[in-house]
Amino acid sequence: MTTHVQAELLQVQNFVNGEWRQSNSTDALEITNPATAEPLARVPLSNAAEVNEAVRAASAAWPEWRETPPGERIQYIFKLKQLMEEHFEDIARTITIENGKTLVEARGELRRGVENVEVACGIPMMMQGYNLENISRGIDEIMYRHPIGVVAAITPFNFPAMIPFWYLPYAIATGNCFILKPSERVPLTMQKIFQLIHQIGLPKGVINLVNGGKPAVDALLDHSDVRAISFVGSTPVARYIYSRAADKGKRVQCQGGAKNYAVILPDADMHAATQIVGESAFGCAGQRCLALSVGVTVGKAQQGFREAVSDFAANLKTGYGLDEGSQMGPVITTQSKTRIEEIIDRAVRSGAKAVKDGRGYKAPKHESGNFLAPTILDDVPADSDIPKTEIFGPVLSLVHADTLDQAIELLSKSAYGNAASLFTTNGAHARRFRHAAPAGNIGINIGVPAPVAYFPFSGWKESFFGDLHGQGRDAIEFYTDKKVVIERWS
Ligand code: NAD
Repeated sequence: MTTHVQAELLQVQNFVNGEWRQSNSTDALEITNPATAEPLARVPLSNAAEVNEAVRAASAAWPEWRETPPGERIQYIFKLKQLMEEHFEDIARTITIENGKTLVEARGELRRGVENVEVACGIPMMMQGYNLENISRGIDEIMYRHPIGVVAAITPFNFPAMIPFWYLPYAIATGNCFILKPSERVPLTMQKIFQLIHQIGLPKGVINLVNGGKPAVDALLDHSDVRAISFVGSTPVARYIYSRAADKGKRVQCQGGAKNYAVILPDADMHAATQIVGESAFGCAGQRCLALSVGVTVGKAQQGFREAVSDFAANLKTGYGLDEGSQMGPVITTQSKTRIEEIIDRAVRSGAKAVKDGRGYKAPKHESGNFLAPTILDDVPADSDIPKTEIFGPVLSLVHADTLDQAIELLSKSAYGNAASLFTTNGAHARRFRHAAPAGNIGINIGVPAPVAYFPFSGWKESFFGDLHGQGRDAIEFYTDKKVVIERWS
């Protein structure tokens, strides 16, 4: 819902050319704490002119920044790491307040963000090219990497701190200038982090922040001075951004939505598998792109697993993420809650059994929050839309297969390919799954196979558009142009 800007609530600001700026847009979104419904802030939906100012600032900063030696560039990033550690708890609390996840989960995502800052400090090594003497007699060939210019990232609501850091530290360490357009539903975490960025003394224009929605995104996609776009969000938007940015000749990487399968074999350690799948399905209220949302039990695993995971769900404490002992928070908006409850209604109408039904849950002391309790749907009809729909809420669907190959066949039918996990104690089964499962992030007895900062955050099929992923070596490839020099000195 857009409203006209009013004065009394905290006004989210843009950070352009090294200074905080009040947006002049008359459109804004009011955001509330998803657990308490308390109003938090108004977020400006910046217009194209404001995006263009950020691009102008970044373009002006680039000639000097690209000539700054990598060893000097990373000194700013070291300082940022230090400040993020000093303000760690404050940032984590902000994540919980605006996103709803528990404080433990918020600390976990922020730690993953900081890890990317640490890895980007290695750019002077990681950015090196290679060379070969005597490609022909007396002739040598050298490959250098050059930064590409102004680059931008557009990020989702579910990891307000971590996902911008899949891009920001690598982009600037490799010598590019960067613009972030965070999710308009969780702008406060970046308000905190940009206060730290303001303190590290970067030349003005190297990192910029523009808050907004589609008009701001479109302005970034269309601007001829923006060389590369990174996106993380839902598949329809990923597809749109990939094609529009590519049409404008940009380098693009777009992470999309997900529907991740857990396969539980009868030889699994059933107690561990239950805990891990339950944590993955219901952690962050199911709003992780790596959440396991379909459990495929194979053969005799069906009975034991269904009961054990139902017990796990029943014992999970759902409440405000800042309250001691809360293990699962609310979903992001009342619209999300309604959408998820409607999907559960539809599943039940189409024949699924709600073994655990989280609809209508009210958290003690926070009755206006967007809470649902963990939900488990059993006997989900394979031909209904439920196994195909990304629910993005605390809902685990259970289906059954007779063999591991049948389970892999089920995964193969999914349009998405973000993640898949297998639970087993048998190495041959693990190897078969690792090889055949059609997804980019595979867990073997792991429920959230989130690559650490020095590996690419992968994703296949409708979960990813592009070729180079975020993080690690892929980030260096994405943010640099290769130049090959062939020399002869007679
Ligand atoms: P979203 O697609 O609604 O929004 C993501 C970003 O795109 C936001 O910054 C938003 O302002 C912008 N946006 C939204 N609609 C747009 C439009 N029509 N045109 C241009 N820009 C637009 O996603 P979300 O709800 O914030 O995040 C949840 C989704 O993100 C889920 O589908 C989840 O699976 C996915 N996700 C994927 C990964 C991954 O690594 N594959 C990671 C996290 C989240």
